[in-house]
Amino acid sequence: MDSSARGRHNLRSMARLDTYGRPLRNLRISVTDRCNLRCSYCMPEENYIWLPRKDILDFEELSTLVDCFTDLGVDKVRLTGGEPLLRQGVDKFVRMLAGKEAIRDLALTTNGILLDDHAESLADAGLHRLTVSLDTLREDRFRELTRRDSLAKVLEGIAAADRAGFRPIKIDTVAMRGVNDDELCDLIEFGRRYDAEVRFIEYMDVGGATRWSAERVITRDQIVELMSRRYGGVEEASSDPAAPADRFALPDGTVFGIISSTTQPFCASCDRARLTADGMWYLCLYARIGTDLRALLRGGASREEIVARLGTVWGGRSDRGAERRLSERDREALLSPDQLRTDPHLEMHTRGG
Ligand code: SAM
Ligand code: SF4
Ligand code: SF4
Repeated sequence: MDSSARGRHNLRSMARLDTYGRPLRNLRISVTDRCNLRCSYCMPEENYIWLPRKDILDFEELSTLVDCFTDLGVDKVRLTGGEPLLRQGVDKFVRMLAGKEAIRDLALTTNGILLDDHAESLADAGLHRLTVSLDTLREDRFRELTRRDSLAKVLEGIAAADRAGFRPIKIDTVAMRGVNDDELCDLIEFGRRYDAEVRFIEYMDVGGATRWSAERVITRDQIVELMSRRYGGVEEASSDPAAPADRFALPDGTVFGIISSTTQPFCASCDRARLTADGMWYLCLYARIGTDLRALLRGGASREEIVARLGTVWGGRSDRGAERRLSERDREALLSPDQLRTDPHLEMHTRGG
């Protein structure tokens, strides 16, 4: 081992902890801020400010940053967006990441529209896991919720992912009162067809969710009650303590998850950070300010210098955004459309969910 590799090895073995003792393990990369849907809980407005193309990091640049993050202890990477499959050559980037020994879990979250074309090449490239977002099985509702007419493409995409051998596929559903609360059991039934694990996400008041209101949130307890009423007893199933979803089993063994990010946030054990397509690094989904890694990288900083900066920033992390929001009274949407227009990085579709 040469001295710089030995230095990296030492850094990895002493994973840096933040001010609450949380390690940095999990990196979400938003590979593009563009999207082919306009989900009402994420992109409800008519117009958006996009990241300038010249600022978007190419795959080599992103790969260099990933190496810096793995030096610091990251071993789980998820590609997201915007819609990650809109980024040209994303399969090539998956292959680059799959070849990195330090990454033991490589996943991608997609709205599924382009999956029919990509599922096989993603599997070939070495992607480990796939999550598809799906909130409704009804065409009219899908159109209303996303302002696009693409439900059939999403369903074809899920079938293609199944054929390509992704198992279990995860299906993420944002549960919203008055929108899809009457479909949660239908989604469980749909998931069974593919042996997919459905996970209900509580509606979050993140940037972009300008129409969020507390009344629209269906809580974890309400989801459990709804499932119990329909299926009989619901038992807690084994969950990975580091994962955000609590898992439950229905009497026939079907397992589903609930991500209770709004009413029971998991900030205490949060080991996640987010990197945007233009190289801004955020320590929390709710953080207003990030660290500009593009400037460091394009300014010629060495890998050691970038790793040192990542370590210093993570060491000072005290973010617990969702917990802080939970303690606020008379909670309304986090940011207004005007505030979001001052900095596109505040948007969920830029930062990556
Ligand atoms: N476009 C891809 C997709 O929809 O799967 C990836 C990016 S999207 C931002 C990632 C996840 O964030 C999706 O599962 C989406 O449902 C979730 N999401 C977006 N806004 C949300 C909100 N306000 N509350 C809860 N989840 C949200
Ligand atoms: Fe919907 Fe994902 Fe696009 Fe947001 S980024 S509008 S959640 S498909
Ligand atoms: Fe982590 Fe921030 Fe989400 Fe809490 S709100 S779980 S600290 S990303």
